[in-house]
Amino acid sequence: MGTISGSCFCQAVKYELTSESQLQGLCYCTDCQRVGGSAHWTSYAVAPADFRLLEGTLTPYTYDPGSGREVTRHFCGKCGTQIMVQSDALDVASVNAMTFDDASVFKPEIGYFTTSAPAWCEVDKGLRPFGAE
Ligand SMILES: [Zn+2]
Ligand SMILES: [Zn+2]
Repeated sequence: MGTISGSCFCQAVKYELTSESQLQGLCYCTDCQRVGGSAHWTSYAVAPADFRLLEGTLTPYTYDPGSGREVTRHFCGKCGTQIMVQSDALDVASVNAMTFDDASVFKPEIGYFTTSAPAWCEVDKGLRPFGAE
């Protein structure tokens, strides 16, 4: 593959990923729903070191989602697009695949927190529940 590049809604933030994700999925947790106004987050997970900010500034918001492991959600400081969710404890950066310049590289295979999906949302049966190998 070539390098994946992406940008926020207002184009102030530009980034690239220097590795291919081995973990692509949709997260139906209620935090992702509230932040995104959508039934799920589109998660393209890479190591934090493989996320390279090229332009702009990310505004971080750190909190404990209830797991005891803090996560930081990173937003464009201008338009508010959520670019990435980082967990230092898990050494993972979950990048917003819908901000890729070529969104067709995203191929979700895993379903996170599918039991939290809204009643009107049909969860793709092809998604493998996270943790079930
Ligand atoms: Zn922006
Ligand atoms: Zn989530």
